[in-house]
Amino acid sequence: MRYPKPDSEPKASTTQLHGISVEPVAATDAALPKSRQRTIPVFRPPGAIAEETFLAGCTRCSDCIDACPHDAIRKAPDRLAAIAGTPVLEADTAACMMCDDFPCIAACKPGVLTQSIPAVMGTALVTEHLCLAHHSTTCTVCSERCPVQGAIRVMDGKPTICEDVCTGCGVCRYVCPAPENAILLMPAFSRPPLPDGHTA
Ligand code: SF4
Ligand code: SF4
Repeated sequence: MRYPKPDSEPKASTTQLHGISVEPVAATDAALPKSRQRTIPVFRPPGAIAEETFLAGCTRCSDCIDACPHDAIRKAPDRLAAIAGTPVLEADTAACMMCDDFPCIAACKPGVLTQSIPAVMGTALVTEHLCLAHHSTTCTVCSERCPVQGAIRVMDGKPTICEDVCTGCGVCRYVCPAPENAILLMPAFSRPPLPDGHTA
């Protein structure tokens, strides 16, 4: 039985529909005291420092968004309350192309995007049961388009991600032609703060 059965004599309720709670839940924990708030797992542009420091220093000026030649960065939507307006990446729409000169970082005046730390946004994973190459079909799209040398290893025609090298740029997810996208992307759980001697 997939769904709970309604009570034999259902009571009129504004928060139940056929026995299923339809009470609204808060979209985020933004209303909680700061000490109980958790960071929202989003993909930040390359070179973004630790999330708490990033949020404190990012002025939401959009300079990195304007500087990106691939339109890869967008503003976090209003529904993400506490981080609305800050720069995020969504590989389903556009992936970071890992520009050699990182114009997004160069445009960031407060320095919360910095070349002083590795440009790692997250990591990718091939979901093998969705991947065409893992099902006797020739497909090399992700490994051909990955802009980071050594991030995708192909053995017997099957791609696997080298997590130590992958930057989470999202190009492989953006180009994957499988009927259900075979690339799972995960944002970096923690990012380094600014190295000693640097200020945001
Ligand atoms: S590295 Fe290049 S493609 Fe990636 S977000 Fe920055 S400007 Fe855009
Ligand atoms: S494996 Fe995918 S996410 Fe990782 S660097 Fe290559 S294209 Fe980017």
